[in-house]
Amino acid sequence: MGYRSLKKYLGETNLERKCRWLFGICLFGLIFFAFFLVDWIGEDLVKRNIHRNGREWVRDFLYDAHWEAWETDPTKKPVRATLSRLLLPQKFEARVIALDRSLVDAMNQEGLNFREGENQQPRQRLWAPDDPEEAKLLESLKSDFEKALAPKPALTSPSDAPLPPDDPLAETSGGFEVSDEDEPFKAHPDPESGRYYFYQPVSWQHNFCKSCHEGSYGKFAMSASESFAPQEADLPFLVVRVALPYSDARAAINWTRAVLLAVGILTVFMSMVALWMVVKYVVIKPLSHLRSVSEAVTRGDLQQRADIHTNDEFEDLAASFNKMLRHLTDAQSELKEANYDLDAKVDQLAQLNMRLHEMNRLKGEFLANMSHELRTPLNSIIGFSEVLAGIDSLTDKQKRYAQNIQKSGRSLLEMINDILDLAKLEAGKMDVRLSEFRIDSILSAHCDMVRSLTEDKNIDLVLDIENDLPALYQDQAKLQQILTNLLSNAIKFTPEGGRITVGAKGDSRGFIEMYVSDTGVGIADADKEIIFEKFRQGTAVLGRDNLTREYSGTGLGLSIVKELCKLLGGEVSVESELGRGSTFRVTIPWMRADQPQAAAKLQSRLDDLTKPRRLDFQRGDEPDTTSSSQPAAAGS
Ligand code: ADP
Repeated sequence: MGYRSLKKYLGETNLERKCRWLFGICLFGLIFFAFFLVDWIGEDLVKRNIHRNGREWVRDFLYDAHWEAWETDPTKKPVRATLSRLLLPQKFEARVIALDRSLVDAMNQEGLNFREGENQQPRQRLWAPDDPEEAKLLESLKSDFEKALAPKPALTSPSDAPLPPDDPLAETSGGFEVSDEDEPFKAHPDPESGRYYFYQPVSWQHNFCKSCHEGSYGKFAMSASESFAPQEADLPFLVVRVALPYSDARAAINWTRAVLLAVGILTVFMSMVALWMVVKYVVIKPLSHLRSVSEAVTRGDLQQRADIHTNDEFEDLAASFNKMLRHLTDAQSELKEANYDLDAKVDQLAQLNMRLHEMNRLKGEFLANMSHELRTPLNSIIGFSEVLAGIDSLTDKQKRYAQNIQKSGRSLLEMINDILDLAKLEAGKMDVRLSEFRIDSILSAHCDMVRSLTEDKNIDLVLDIENDLPALYQDQAKLQQILTNLLSNAIKFTPEGGRITVGAKGDSRGFIEMYVSDTGVGIADADKEIIFEKFRQGTAVLGRDNLTREYSGTGLGLSIVKELCKLLGGEVSVESELGRGSTFRVTIPWMRADQPQAAAKLQSRLDDLTKPRRLDFQRGDEPDTTSSSQPAAAGS
């Protein structure tokens, strides 16, 4: 299991299992580390002990061998043999090994082997390595030995106590260096025989040894009462090998291991059980209690409280939890009260809205009636002023006055018509009369109608209608009214020598786009929103005193356009740059005459649009007299 999957697993499991896993893994690691450490230390101790024993055994062997060699008195020989048997370990097995096989052969051939007594078989004194492995090991020991001896002229005495002057060893500083820890050795266990072989080189470094051994192996011969005098002068490299019993130590090591392992496993098991109990009763139990309380609270039982008395952090947590619950209940009751207040206010607001709506309706009705009532006398005034202007007996001045009455009357009528239209639109009383007509002919007829005006101002009027536009199924009169308003604005706000383009094109969404574009004074960015509101006019143009009169108006034309577009299921937008001109785009759905189903759909939609807008009090509409009385647009 990789780190990621372990993390994922632990991330998805509960707290108890997480603790168990993490603690278990750490505990296992620690226990096994401790196990291997103790095992390693134990094994090292055993080895050191074996090596120390090996050195002592080698020394004992050499003492015994020398005593045996020097003891020529036949009466004392049995005493030595008995002492050797008593003092040396029972399974004591030691031999001297020479790397030089010719030396071994020579010794054996010449019969220089030791014999305990006259009746006993001679004991081999010098051995060759048992096998190539052993020979290799001894070669390496030889090189270690030479290296260890090289810097020292003579090995130091094992005991620091000065030797007495008559001691034969006194003339040298050497001796058998078997107890020196620096003295090289080799050792290895032999699992087959259950023994541990310990090899240590024989040191020849002092004169005392040389007096017997140097230059001749005859000294061996002498001690064996034989006459052999080899010609070789150098001292050979000899190694004492002792075989120590090892199987008991091995068994003890294995036993220790088994005990250690068992203790380790038991410790892990006990710790896991202890941890499980701690986690379950100290951590999980209070947590579960807190969870059940919070679930009860979630279900709506706000009277539930955490009941933990453990005198620890969980008790603190439970106290904070209870405090939070109290706050929650308080906040909830406050919220309830606020809600009641809010409900009451919403009721008041709804009533206010209804009153406003009613007042707005009354205002619309009043405006419509008033406009209607105003139009009748105004028409008479215009008619009579026309008659008056036609009387030949009037002076020029009187004729001009009569024309002024006529002009003012017309613009007043226009304004009243606008107010009437807007009032009708807002009151939802404007009817939509669908008919089939061609947009290109409507546009060109309109252009022809205003051409004289454009020519007066030397304005270039251009038509840009897409070819093969299908017939429209819409309210022709409303569309004409939209066009009239846009065109009259364009002519009004375009200075002499300018250009006005009137165009139409279809789009793939089933809409037709008409636009009136001019190279007039343009509209400031800040004015682009307000110009569609009732009685609002662009401030940038009106700000210039000399232009105010020229561009004066009611501020109703574009709001009527906007409302009419909504009524026809479309919208109007403007793009303009101050001083460069403006483009007004009207997008309305068209219905081809050959699509009766779609036409019916449009009709029902338009019917919907012409219904008075119902106030939705629950959605908290603002008590705005202007917006609340607007008819619903198809797009809104
Ligand atoms: P009115 O023209 O009677 O002032 P409108 O509602 O028709 O009222 O227009 C509102 C305002 O929009 C105008 O006062 C003018 O500032 C701006 N406006 C409308 N059409 C144009 C146009 N073609 N070029 C520049 N400004 C325009």
